Amino acid sequence: MTKPLRPEPKPGVMDIAAYVPGKSAAPDGVAKVHKLSSNENPLGASPRAVEAVHEAAGMLEFYPDGAATSLRQAIGEVHGLNPANIVCSNGSDEVIQLLAQTYLQPGDEGLFTEHGFLVYRIYIQAAGGVPVVAPEMDETADVDAILAAVTEKTRIVFLANPNNPTGTYIPFEEVRRLHAGLPKDVLLVLDAAYAEYVRRNDYEAGIELVSSSHNVVMTRTFSKVHGLGGARIGWLYGPAHVIDALNRVRSPFNVNAMAIAAGTAAIRDQAHVQTSVEHNERWLSWVSEELRTLGLRVTPSVGNFILIHFPDDETHSAAMADDYLAGRGYVLRRVGAYGFPNALRMTIGTEEANRGVVAALAEFLKA
Ligand SMILES: *Cc1c(COP(=O)(O)O)cnc(C)c1O
Repeated sequence: MTKPLRPEPKPGVMDIAAYVPGKSAAPDGVAKVHKLSSNENPLGASPRAVEAVHEAAGMLEFYPDGAATSLRQAIGEVHGLNPANIVCSNGSDEVIQLLAQTYLQPGDEGLFTEHGFLVYRIYIQAAGGVPVVAPEMDETADVDAILAAVTEKTRIVFLANPNNPTGTYIPFEEVRRLHAGLPKDVLLVLDAAYAEYVRRNDYEAGIELVSSSHNVVMTRTFSKVHGLGGARIGWLYGPAHVIDALNRVRSPFNVNAMAIAAGTAAIRDQAHVQTSVEHNERWLSWVSEELRTLGLRVTPSVGNFILIHFPDDETHSAAMADDYLAGRGYVLRRVGAYGFPNALRMTIGTEEANRGVVAALAEFLKA
């Protein structure tokens, strides 16, 4: 066997399509930019979180508490959970990566759905696993299709509920049915990044199911309703045996001191969460209805974003709409990589941004 002439990544790494984050800039000359491409909170972070970061900045020479004790304590208080069953992470992306790394061997299968969050595929592949995609029905996860895709090699199932970029969800009875149909040695990961926004009686993020099972975990993030995407804070609630495994694999100081301070203050500011959820509820339905009135199809969303489908004609494609909006300072997200070549995802923004996008799209469709 000839020896390679330079270090080569292990098999599979070069098959990974790198994640493309939402754009944050508009073309030169645009006076004001409304970033609606990454599902960030248009009201920003809690002022208490910002204050906590200022305070933490005065002690940067000290390593953070590697166990993120104060943050786990605060999360536990707010959600009624035992802090011992929580692991915090550098964004929930990190804990998703840790799960793949911890539970997948080369050749093991990791399952997710057709329009599911793209980081699942990346971390499954990075762990040497095989990504398996279950078809969706009406842009919504389909429990029967997921169960039909399970094989002897399946080790982990990722379900974003609600899902990004569709904004659709499955009722909790369906999640229970999914769990009941899975083999006991398959880990079910409920990614509830948008749970706070969901106002539906048949929705649950998964806390009860985690508490009563040995093979279910729930992941959450501070990047969305808490407005702390820049601080990178996520967490997982799971059974003790999973927490034990993840704590062995994670880097010892994975959550930095400023993130711990910000998250601890943010989760205790439930008034800010409430205000953010109410803002979203109002504008989610307003934007969805206005765009439908313009003749655009909008996937029904329970999150803080909507998926807007453009007509299949060559004069009003999603790419053209994206350029048109960007030229006016409205930065949306292209979602071709998610299987939606002719749609854009829009984060629900400030009143000014929401009204601006609707007005600009009305003009665009007339042009
Ligand atoms: C935004 C998002 C996350 C959170 O990512 P962070 O790494 O915590 O910023 C997780 N899952 C889904 C489905 C998301 O859309």
